Amino acid sequence: MKRAIETKCLHLEEEGGCNNYGSISYPIYQTATYAHPGVGKSTGYDYSRLQNPTREHLEKVVAALENGTDAFAFSTGMAAIALLMELFQPGDHLIADADLYGGSIRLFRNVSEKNGVTFSSIDCCRDDVESYIQENTKAIYIETPTNPMMNVTDIAALSEIAKRHRLLLIVDNTFLSPYLQNPLDLGADIVVHSGTKYLGGHNDTLAGFLVTNREDIREKFAFLIKTTGAGLAPFDSWLILRGIKTLGIRMEKAQSNALEIANWLKAQSAVTRVIYPGLPEHPGYNIMKKQARGFGAMLTFQLKNKEFALAILEKVRMIKFAESLGGVETLITYPTTQTHADVPKEIREKNGITESTLRLSVGIENAEDLLYELNKVFREIEGEQYGREKS
Ligand SMILES: *Cc1c(COP(=O)(O)O)cnc(C)c1O
Repeated sequence: MKRAIETKCLHLEEEGGCNNYGSISYPIYQTATYAHPGVGKSTGYDYSRLQNPTREHLEKVVAALENGTDAFAFSTGMAAIALLMELFQPGDHLIADADLYGGSIRLFRNVSEKNGVTFSSIDCCRDDVESYIQENTKAIYIETPTNPMMNVTDIAALSEIAKRHRLLLIVDNTFLSPYLQNPLDLGADIVVHSGTKYLGGHNDTLAGFLVTNREDIREKFAFLIKTTGAGLAPFDSWLILRGIKTLGIRMEKAQSNALEIANWLKAQSAVTRVIYPGLPEHPGYNIMKKQARGFGAMLTFQLKNKEFALAILEKVRMIKFAESLGGVETLITYPTTQTHADVPKEIREKNGITESTLRLSVGIENAEDLLYELNKVFREIEGEQYGREKS
């Protein structure tokens, strides 16, 4: 029988290998190098930049969750994406969605372009992607839902275009995690994760992943990770392994909280727009129903003015005003000065990120406690803004 994903978070099909003592928690192999039993003989490990048993175990777990043949674990999500870009040569062209994680945009614009790779930055869910394909186009790079505007792209439809033109389809699946979406099953060639987010899940460790089911790409990644040296350390690999064990229940709880908050926000007169793909009025709702097993726990909302948005950030206490997402604690982010500060203002505005836009990464607290805090904050600000209008 094929195991369900929440079971795969706990049990690998082929357990064993270097875990000799039956320990339930996979050991942390805190070693830089490995002794050889003899000349020309090896335990299978030579040096931890190449591979380490703890990292390897984590990579097998993540590959299993994404239905890939291979995964590679990196020190951060950005290290994973930087290594991914080594697949391309000067003169290559990529099509990238315009609404991406700010760090990815910064990497493409400042590092990849310097290295001779060019980009067309487009809206992959509305523009005619095919019309941007050039002779030297090598790949399409997307997130779905996007960060922070929650645009949803039909992965299977895009993969047909990619296959027809022999382009790689790369999907950053950080926002939904493998628990809710598996892009490789929908025709993607490479899946990217910031393991810092839902996979780790506790706002305590940085990590990144590349997953593939293509042998030619696996070979290139294996060569690049040992050559450039950004593989994840043994202890951090263990922390991500531990986080993954509860991925299923965390995603379920965070997602149900997110829907409650989205509905609460919709009823607020100070809120002009709630962008959550789990709301039936979201333009991506039906695509999400088709290609994902849920809607996730990220939501973006816009206030009637910038002052209201900033006041929320000042007043929240249990909900933390912090960058990042995907952890057990609810975090609220101001994309304009945080995640997307390095994205030029005109691109930010074109993507719809205004100065009154806030992003919530909903955690696993009690839903009523979250709504109580939001309600308190909103009523306080309304009182102050009303008082100011009167005087
Ligand atoms: C955070 C994030 C990244 C970068 O990951 P780090 O672990 O912070 O380096 C990439 N993509 C998305 C969608 C992210 O949210």
